[in-house]
Amino acid sequence: MQRKLRYYGDPILRQKAKPVTDFNEAYLKQLIAEMDEIMQKNDGMGLAAPQVGDLLRVFIFRPVIEVSPRQWELGPLEIYINPTLSNPSEELWVIEEGCLSIPKLQVPVERPLAITIEAYDLEGKPFQKSADGILARAYMHENDHLNGVLTIDRTTKRARQQIDNALRKIKAKYS
Ligand SMILES: [Zn+2]
Repeated sequence: MQRKLRYYGDPILRQKAKPVTDFNEAYLKQLIAEMDEIMQKNDGMGLAAPQVGDLLRVFIFRPVIEVSPRQWELGPLEIYINPTLSNPSEELWVIEEGCLSIPKLQVPVERPLAITIEAYDLEGKPFQKSADGILARAYMHENDHLNGVLTIDRTTKRARQQIDNALRKIKAKYS
């Protein structure tokens, strides 16, 4: 495996990713396989390509599925290439959000409850989905990564101040 998880402080996390124009299956499959491995190794359910150093508009997601009472596992891999979000609900909600690139720091983030996502699959075929709750939130979180936006940009000033030291430590540790 070539790619590595990028952490807060890595400038690539602040850059805007470029659309996939060449649906090179071998390249994309390798990228996605590595992203999936890194995501699962770090107990994540979503990961965007810039988080592994590829400035492409690609993210992956695995829903968490309850397999038996109080037992969850990751569901099938979903791939979103060149996603666009639309129809955000007027209703907003706040929960604490984590991010693999900002380990162990959760901050409250307000987002629309529901969203529509349009994207392309590995073969370059477009598809559309509507989602709400955690699913919609995950799509918005991962889509933010494609624009260089992190949870800490969307949290309250107070929460941001509270984690300021911890953020500085992450930056120092991984750079
Ligand atoms: Zn993230």
